[in-house]
Amino acid sequence: MIVQGHDITGPRSLRTHTLVVGSGSGGGVAAYHLAEAGVDTIVVEEGGYHVASEFNQREEDMYPMLYRSGGQQMTSDGMINVMQGSCYGGGTVINVSDAFDIPSEVLAHWQRTYGTSEWTEKSLEAPYRRVHRNVNVKRINKSLVNRNNGLLLETAQKLGWSAEVMHSNRKGCVGSGYCLLGCAYDARLGTNLTYLPWAVEKGADVYTDVRCDRLERINGSSWRAHCTVVQRGLRTARLPLTIDCERVVLAASAIFTPAILLRSGLGDGLPQLGRNLTLQPQLGLVGRFDEGDEIVHWRGAPQSVEVDEFADNSVERGLGGFRLEGIGGAIGPVMIMTPGFGREHKRFGKYMRNLSATLLLVPDQPSGAVSYQWAEDGRVTPKIDYVMQDEWKQRLKAGMRRGAELLFAAGAREVAFANQAFPPLRSPDDLSRIADFRIEPGLVTFNSAHNQSTCRMGTSPANSVVDQNLKVHGLENVYVMDGSIMPTSAATHTMIPIMAAADFAVHRMLQS
Ligand SMILES: Cc1cc2nc3c(=O)[nH]c(=O)nc-3n(C[C@H](O)[C@H](O)[C@H](O)COP(=O)(O)OP(=O)(O)OC[C@H]3O[C@@H](n4cnc5c(N)ncnc54)[C@H](O)[C@@H]3O)c2cc1C
Ligand code: SF4
Repeated sequence: MIVQGHDITGPRSLRTHTLVVGSGSGGGVAAYHLAEAGVDTIVVEEGGYHVASEFNQREEDMYPMLYRSGGQQMTSDGMINVMQGSCYGGGTVINVSDAFDIPSEVLAHWQRTYGTSEWTEKSLEAPYRRVHRNVNVKRINKSLVNRNNGLLLETAQKLGWSAEVMHSNRKGCVGSGYCLLGCAYDARLGTNLTYLPWAVEKGADVYTDVRCDRLERINGSSWRAHCTVVQRGLRTARLPLTIDCERVVLAASAIFTPAILLRSGLGDGLPQLGRNLTLQPQLGLVGRFDEGDEIVHWRGAPQSVEVDEFADNSVERGLGGFRLEGIGGAIGPVMIMTPGFGREHKRFGKYMRNLSATLLLVPDQPSGAVSYQWAEDGRVTPKIDYVMQDEWKQRLKAGMRRGAELLFAAGAREVAFANQAFPPLRSPDDLSRIADFRIEPGLVTFNSAHNQSTCRMGTSPANSVVDQNLKVHGLENVYVMDGSIMPTSAATHTMIPIMAAADFAVHRMLQS
């Protein structure tokens, strides 16, 4: 059964065996496999329940409806917009469907550095197989590769650079291009269309518009979750709701899972809790083509081609280099990627049909932390601190250069970067100017779609928050199954890695 917050009219006390907090990539997968195994399961999701017929493809409606803070959640220095879905299905409702597994070099790095010897390519084989089948991971059909992405592919191939069409979790995609605003065609197989309804079919209950605030230990090893039914939209408190349970699976994302543990007073003895944040910052590059040269980045699959020539997996940690990927689909984010104010900004807007948009992705090392302020009614505001290290600033500049080189080779007349002060490059002769590009708060705007590592997995509380079963060190029956468990950035798109991690852990939990 799905219960929406507005249908709850008075305080409630519920009981279940396992409570899952959050319904995105991790929570959805965990809920289904628990329910499938016959475990009495409740899912609470702070965001609202929404379906395809509500996805009206308008940015002004969809960001407030489907994203945390309307899609504007900034790091404390204002430099990185940490984007997150926040609704039934979490990030899987608004992401662009790119599907990758964790590179083997990254798994090897985790094994060496964090002692995660049980997380191997072999042990993850079955979880990946199940996840790929369940959300239909397939290479994107060539007919959906739009000109924005197609240009990257063709030009990279001409330059002799490695590039390919990516995989995604779609079925019946019509190439409308609106993935970031929720799929009105039910073609992107997020947890909202797969794991969550399957969990409900198997008997799980999902409560939307319900925020889990804190956990209290009761009767030895059981838990009481103190929750709040929130007003949809503003998320102010409406009613209290408690859930008594034997076990809790936290899957509220790397930004919000630590908040629940900390507010519950369970942070003692967990020095890594809320630390080691990775964001995999992404910088937007815009190519401006001639007026007759139509790119129309907003149709087709928004992000379908990756240039991985410079993704340096040969270095020991698997976290080097950078990747370039086509992106598009929504006008707002592409305008944010264009530089300048007033007339100059408008000039780019007038060329909208002729703009190509590319993302430069830089895998990072743990480099940030989250802390929190709570309002009286339980609403939580995260303070996201993140330090961009010199090493990845250098990789960003190398990536900007390669990206601009590629866009000029594709026929762009100018190439711009998402920033406030640096004028567009007018020709390949300008490439050397990139050395002067200042990566500083107030001057550059990055996006992050991949928050990870604030409850990282490892062997002891000294180096981590959860063990290899994803159980919180020192706490009976409390697990974490979301992006926060990654020891470092998974160095790729995170939905499939998180789904596989939740599948792996929940099957182990059920076996034991
Ligand atoms: C714009 C965008 C594009 C992306 N594109 C891709 C892509 O193409 N491919 C890819 O692999 N990944 C992509 N991602 C990333 C991917 O979607 C996320 O990494 C992934 O969904 C995170 O999974 P999660 O389980 O950690 O949390 P989420 O999916 O973020 O789910 C967490 C859920 O918990 C809820 N919640 C939070 N706090 C509470 C609480 N206290 N009580 C109850 N509920 C709570 C939230 O509302 C949210 O719905 C993208 C992300 C964004 C934002
Ligand atoms: S391109 Fe359109 S139809 Fe295809 S998954 Fe995205 S929103 Fe759905």
